[in-house]
Amino acid sequence: MIYLDNAATTRILPCATEKIIRFADKEYFNPSAGYAPAIAVRHEIDRSAEVIASMLGADADEIVFTSCATESNNYALSCGIKNKKGNIVVSASEHASVYECAMRLRSRGTEVRFVDPDKTGHVTPESVAAATDRNTAFVSVIHCSNETGTVNDISGISAAVRAVSPTAVIHSDGVQAFAKIRTDMHTLGVDLYSVSAHKVGGLKGVGALFIRRGLNMQPFIAGGGQQSGRRSGTENVCGITSFSAAAAEYAKAAETFDAHSLRKIFTDRFGGRADVLVNGCGILSGYILSLSFKGLKGEIIAHGMEDRGILIGLGSACSTHVKANRTLGAMGVGKDFAEGSVRISFSPATTRAEAETAAEALEEVTDELHRKTGR
Ligand code: PLP
Repeated sequence: MIYLDNAATTRILPCATEKIIRFADKEYFNPSAGYAPAIAVRHEIDRSAEVIASMLGADADEIVFTSCATESNNYALSCGIKNKKGNIVVSASEHASVYECAMRLRSRGTEVRFVDPDKTGHVTPESVAAATDRNTAFVSVIHCSNETGTVNDISGISAAVRAVSPTAVIHSDGVQAFAKIRTDMHTLGVDLYSVSAHKVGGLKGVGALFIRRGLNMQPFIAGGGQQSGRRSGTENVCGITSFSAAAAEYAKAAETFDAHSLRKIFTDRFGGRADVLVNGCGILSGYILSLSFKGLKGEIIAHGMEDRGILIGLGSACSTHVKANRTLGAMGVGKDFAEGSVRISFSPATTRAEAETAAEALEEVTDELHRKTGR
């Protein structure tokens, strides 16, 4: 099997599995207990926060572990908005876990302003600034698009927002950027930043939220006061410790992994064709590639690839049921292309040979579908 859906999830790294077994079996103590073995577990959680923080150019006390990035995003949008009368500005190419929170806020009376990406897939500082005014209380723009891999200029966006609304809280969903591209919180200028473990070789069901020191965030989950009262509930020790182990190892592998050269295998093959769109251009992550085949259906292409032992995605795993892709629609990709979209995503474990085999298979599958459907 060739697995090219790493933006949906990644295979767990052995160093992460080791932590899971260790803290599920031998060191299973509740980190809030007062005896020595439990205190040792607490120290492991603290060390994990240090690892994640250092990867974000932050301090350990600025990290809150959550049950997933969906929770991190919900926390950010539920508790990050201070000026309840203010408006919020959100990009139209957010993951559903931000987009649906914004829609919920809108249904409850908050003014939500959506900013479309441009044709290249980028949400520009200029377009975010144009939607911002003095009453803007909260801004959320995804760092790296889970659909197209385009990387937004978050530091430019932060500066542009602060020039208009200095008190606005700025959030970015960093799930597809973390451990792959530079994610320094001071450089990005954000107050809140969401990450997920299972996109970088960790366990599913674990995430974290960076909360800039000094930002007064009410707890999203109230209870026993764990994580300095910001996120109650006994910590997921296996998930947290395996997250930091995986993230550190993934980031190290990413330093020498040339994702762009794998992406190029596909863009060289399909880039010049009038019936295929390579979605997004300019500053991109090499890890994600979105292709749209005119007149075909993404699901059918993906099934054809699966029949050949190659797994690819259709877009965000959480939104495979959404017929026309929201991000591509906002970029201006027509329905005839958007419905034939597939997402190919790599990890440092992907080999050049796998990418070459998959690119060839994709051409065969789509050519065959064109012949069969006469489109
Ligand atoms: N944000 C982005 C950009 C994602 O790609 C995903 C997962 O697909 C999420 C958030 C949700 O992450 P999780 O599965 O940890 O809830």
